[in-house]
Amino acid sequence: MTWDWFEALKKSAASGEKPTAIYTCPNTPIKCGGAPQKILYLSADHLKKEDLGANFVYATGTSKLFSIPKIEKSLSQVQKRYDKITNKFRHNLISIDVKQKVATFEETYEIQGAYDADLEEYDVTEENRMVEMPYDFIHVVPPMGPPQALVDSKLGWQKGTAKGWLEVDMESLQHRRYKNVFGIGDVCGIPMGKTGGSARHHGPVTVGNLVAQVEGKVLKEKFDGYTVCPLKVEYGEIILAEFNYEGLAPSFPFAVEKPRFIWWVFDLYMLKPMYWHLMLRGWM
Ligand SMILES: Cc1cc2nc3c(=O)[nH]c(=O)nc-3n(C[C@H](O)[C@H](O)[C@H](O)COP(=O)(O)OP(=O)(O)OC[C@H]3O[C@@H](n4cnc5c(N)ncnc54)[C@H](O)[C@@H]3O)c2cc1C
Repeated sequence: MTWDWFEALKKSAASGEKPTAIYTCPNTPIKCGGAPQKILYLSADHLKKEDLGANFVYATGTSKLFSIPKIEKSLSQVQKRYDKITNKFRHNLISIDVKQKVATFEETYEIQGAYDADLEEYDVTEENRMVEMPYDFIHVVPPMGPPQALVDSKLGWQKGTAKGWLEVDMESLQHRRYKNVFGIGDVCGIPMGKTGGSARHHGPVTVGNLVAQVEGKVLKEKFDGYTVCPLKVEYGEIILAEFNYEGLAPSFPFAVEKPRFIWWVFDLYMLKPMYWHLMLRGWM
């Protein structure tokens, strides 16, 4: 269905119009934080290959393109490859009028207040306003949250930004209040993740510490925050963003922020066998 809608946008671009395509990213944690941008760049590239363009809008509830500065810089460069991409930061999708083709976002913005002589800076307050954007094509990434069973239990964080997600220690993955409970995968309420790559690194930590807990030993395994996000920036090029709690964490001796063909080949041909034959058997 999405493909059909995008083909309609392509037709309109081919007829000489300048259609508007909006790509959204919510202000909640999401599975694979880079995914909303992958579809943006791939569809921009799809048009570019036929010398077509559109007004691309990336409307995100977050305040930047990526949390790691070097990757953020690289993505800003990537955006210049394509016909106009406008970033709308701190814009969270609220509703869509499908008939009129208008999306409404809640924008959070800052207002400079009075000068505080003690702090030697201006007070800043945050305000919200509704912003309407007409579109020809829209790709929506929905807001995500913890499974309801977890929200209904006592196992989730009781407050804060991770409210409802499993309240585990960010290194041992042991529950902070129920010592016989350990977390693995997206459900963990920790600063990094939610990627399959993180879950792969959670595995040995969770199992090692769980066994240690059962045997009454000291919990030695530590999760370092490893997260991997293969950012598809055009057909045939990927930035393999690997990072952890400390910053960039490359598995290979290459500059992480650089888009490369080799990662496209890796993603296309290696990940599936790696998943079925190595990860699921607990070999990596
Ligand atoms: C578009 C997209 C692109 C992605 N790209 C990448 C990528 O390139 N690299 C990468 O590493 N990761 C990527 N991810 C993230 C990756 O898919 C997840 O991090 C991974 O699947 C997490 O595994 P999980 O087992 O923790 O959770 P899930 O895969 O979500 O599995 C949880 C399971 O629990 C089930 N469940 C929920 N509630 C209950 C209940 N009450 N009772 C029983 N079962 C229940 C659900 O149905 C589900 O099957 C991507 C995700 C998306 C959406």
